[in-house]
Amino acid sequence: MSRFRLPRSLIAETGLLETPLGRRLSERLTVAEPRPSIQPADYPGFGPDDLLLTRHRGEFVKPCPGTRGYICCGLQIIHFGLGCTLDCTYCILQGYLDTRALVLFGNLEAKLDRVGDMLDQTDSPHRYCTGEFTDSLLLEGLTGLGARLVRLFAGFPGKLLELKTKTDHIESLCGLDHGGRTVVSFSVNAPAVAAREESGAATLARRLAAASRLAESGYRLGFHFDPLIRHPGWEPGYRETVARIFEAVPAERIAWISLGAFRYLPRLKAVVARRHPRTRIMDGEFVLAGDGKMRYVRPLRVEMYRVLVKAIRKASPDACVYLCMENGRVWREVFGFDPAPDGLIRMLDQRV
Ligand code: SF4
Repeated sequence: MSRFRLPRSLIAETGLLETPLGRRLSERLTVAEPRPSIQPADYPGFGPDDLLLTRHRGEFVKPCPGTRGYICCGLQIIHFGLGCTLDCTYCILQGYLDTRALVLFGNLEAKLDRVGDMLDQTDSPHRYCTGEFTDSLLLEGLTGLGARLVRLFAGFPGKLLELKTKTDHIESLCGLDHGGRTVVSFSVNAPAVAAREESGAATLARRLAAASRLAESGYRLGFHFDPLIRHPGWEPGYRETVARIFEAVPAERIAWISLGAFRYLPRLKAVVARRHPRTRIMDGEFVLAGDGKMRYVRPLRVEMYRVLVKAIRKASPDACVYLCMENGRVWREVFGFDPAPDGLIRMLDQRV
């Protein structure tokens, strides 16, 4: 069973309780006295039961930062909040964000019109996602923001929204007129990793049941095997998950499947040791890579990718499979070609 629970208190900056999102949240949460401002330096003073409603001062839509030397899928990120309480042991956010509270940007609503203007331009990028610093559907039951974006994108042929989640919070999406312009993607893993390292997320069975319901609602689906973690029994474990995906949803409903081996900034190691002392995920053979992250040595990554690609192709020979943030040499060893610099972007744009 998932340990996830919704926040209970809403702490907002002055003026944001009067926004549509602020009003909606106020109906469900205990509302604290508004504050003139809530700055990142204040975040550590709050806990997982707190939801902070603040103003985002920067750009709401930004390209995925990518990393030089690694092949990026070129998504644009709609930035609507920060933090995640699913508490995966390997989560990179632990190394970046000094908060256990969740942050939503209350001024997002006003900016969504600008997103619409951007989508209206034929030369704007094709693919967008939410949730670089959170899970796209974590608070969907409270906010309805995912459903709002699905409706927005439905009106823009040639553009595509990807919602990425480890939850089964899909109720608000079922039955929407999405126009085929949204892919809902589930992060998945081997059963042992999902159970041990993702204990706040929906179980693998629930994620796949949610995917199946969305397929019935006409959505296309994505699956992200990220992070692939070497553990006793990893090979049959990952094959089992591949088989379960294709049992749960028709192959033609799957837009893409990505693979990304576990990687982390060195400073994450101490944080994980403190927060999750029982995990063994850092025990593998890692090297410091060119992007400053610890990665499994290349032959181990290639071996894992090959096992997954073979299992996926066996289930669906035409499946669109790609590697997340890998270098050209690994691409060549796994697929026999190197899509640098923008072949992956073109490949995924064609799926749109
Ligand atoms: S679901 Fe993603 S963002 Fe949330 S804790 Fe897990 S890895 Fe981090």
